[in-house]
Amino acid sequence: MKLSTDGLIIREQQTGEDDRLVTLLTRDYGVLRAFVRGAKRIKSKSQSATQLFAYGNFSIYRGKDAYSIDEAQPIEIFFDLRNDIEALSLAQYFCELAGELAPVEDDAGDYLKLILNALHMLSKNKRPHSQLKAIVELRLMTLAGYMPDLVACGDCEEFSDDGMFFSPVEGQIFCKECVSDHTCIKLPNGVLSAMRHICYVDSTKLFSFTLPHESLDFLTQVTENFLLTQTAKKFKTLDFYKSIL
Ligand SMILES: [Zn+2]
Repeated sequence: MKLSTDGLIIREQQTGEDDRLVTLLTRDYGVLRAFVRGAKRIKSKSQSATQLFAYGNFSIYRGKDAYSIDEAQPIEIFFDLRNDIEALSLAQYFCELAGELAPVEDDAGDYLKLILNALHMLSKNKRPHSQLKAIVELRLMTLAGYMPDLVACGDCEEFSDDGMFFSPVEGQIFCKECVSDHTCIKLPNGVLSAMRHICYVDSTKLFSFTLPHESLDFLTQVTENFLLTQTAKKFKTLDFYKSIL
């Protein structure tokens, strides 16, 4: 059986002299792993389309136990990412997150769009890295079913933009009267609004908000804390990204 879908290469591994195993985030079939057979013999166009961060149209053969890529037409290869080690390592983190959180054998169009937009912003240096990291972390969590409830205090339903506390454990906010748990984080001005924006806004407006740098740094610590708490996972690419900051 043959599949045809748009996808982004989010991981590549050499498996033999001439073969590679790649992981794709595809629009129609979610995350899938496929062999690139005879990688050195494959036409040069297909070669560049099967490297890490390559986005393209793939024709994929589904064999008995494995997928393999028959043909690849590159659409965008995000070459500029390779000029900046910090951008490169953040892009790798986005890809690892997508591989972890996106569905398998199911529609993943929203995930793909999010990661492609983030890679575009990253490669063209259009937003601060801390902002892109926060957007990808929190929006991916929202898509994957971990959306926090940021509307009002989880106990008394007070609605306020300021002086609220966020619980990464419960995925809820609390007002200063109701907060009890010491793991709750007091959110500075603007940070809660930004979190609401990332969770609730239409995808076309997702990247269009601004915050001062200190607030973005705070925001990205909160979204990271939330993601690590909820998934209970370690991400090697995140550790590497933080090690070079
Ligand atoms: Zn309350």
